Amino acid sequence: MTTQKRIAVTGGAGFLGSHLCEKLLGQGHEVLCIDNFFTGTKQNIIHLLDNPLFELIRHDVTFPLYIEVEEIYNLACPASPVHYQFDPVQTTKTSVHGAINMLGLAKRIKAKIFQASTSEVYGDPQVHPQPESYWGHVNPIGVRSCYDEGKRCAETLFFDYHRQHQLKIKVARIFNTYGPRMNVDDGRVVSNFIIQAIKNEPITVYGDGTQSRSFCYVDDLIEGFVRFMNSDDGFTGPVNLGNPREFSILELARTIVEITGSQSEIVFKELPADDPRQRRPEISLVRQKLGWEPLVSLESGLIPTIEYFRGLLMK
Ligand code: NAD
Ligand code: UDP
Ligand code: UDP
Repeated sequence: MTTQKRIAVTGGAGFLGSHLCEKLLGQGHEVLCIDNFFTGTKQNIIHLLDNPLFELIRHDVTFPLYIEVEEIYNLACPASPVHYQFDPVQTTKTSVHGAINMLGLAKRIKAKIFQASTSEVYGDPQVHPQPESYWGHVNPIGVRSCYDEGKRCAETLFFDYHRQHQLKIKVARIFNTYGPRMNVDDGRVVSNFIIQAIKNEPITVYGDGTQSRSFCYVDDLIEGFVRFMNSDDGFTGPVNLGNPREFSILELARTIVEITGSQSEIVFKELPADDPRQRRPEISLVRQKLGWEPLVSLESGLIPTIEYFRGLLMK
């Protein structure tokens, strides 16, 4: 049996956060979900609201927060390009001021703190696949920079609080993840393609579709979060968490058309600025340290994800 802990999850009403809250409650922990509902929704956590171990706090992490917990998972930040580019200044503030506040909180209450960093810290990578030792290739002034540089600065803050104030930190670099509860108007590739396929509308491939991504199913990722948080304090990361199987965007489009049995045709649209050409995690570090690796194939993970969107679109 695990000992019960009080755990804060910032961004807990979002896609990943809601799955994490659910997992932690399932393990018998008390969960404080902190969210300003920018991209998250009450609907994502509505099934948790009756649980006496669950508490919802509407709060923006760019402002100070005074609570008492043993662990903090810092996930608050819009994650899809459409949402993080909507108000780029707020995105950087969320990453940077949000990190400062949550680190200040962790320092005061001596809590262990996890940071949801991202594969975007590698930018448009010139090393492939990306190991944690790679410093990245990021444009500091482009349209994606508010997110990429915000997350890089947050990593810097985590490691400085660790060195300067001996904080217990866990920094995970998350690669593209998909699953139920992705936002319908999220704009990310998996949700876009599934919705278009279900509606028999054209599938919008940006560029020629040869750019690649590696897609991790949400359950695999959340298992990785919790294992990492519970690992030896000396293991701070940064550690890549993602599925090393790489697909071109065109392959993803064809797979989704096939699984949904859709009549959709594939159309090609302009490639957004600074869109990374390729992305695949090198996961030997996490395999060796935590014995973790993704178990769900893209084909199996797409099935519940498609079911989720079918359910939503039928409403
Ligand atoms: P999401 O947009 O569904 O969730 C983010 C949550 O943070 C939302 O509930 C939103 O309302 C909340 N939020 C945003 N700004 C806030 C603020 N200032 N104060 C309080 N709450 C705020 O995105 P997600 O996919 O669940 O991503 C969660 C985290 O994981 C993010 O930090 C993201 O950068 C990181 N990440 C996700 C992926 C992925 O593929 N899903 C990949 C890499 C990194
Ligand atoms: N902070 C917070 N909750 C706390 C403690 C601190 O939100 O329980 C915020 C506070 O706003 C502060 C920031 O975290 O500005 C950084 O805290 P730290 O102690 O590192 O720095 P300082 O207070 O000296 O600026
Ligand atoms: N993409 C696409 N069609 C869409 C949405 C995205 O072809 O409708 C492409 C996008 O240009 C990128 C890849 O899919 O090359 C992944 O995009 P996403 O926004 O999901 O994530 P990120 O670029 O942050 O990895």
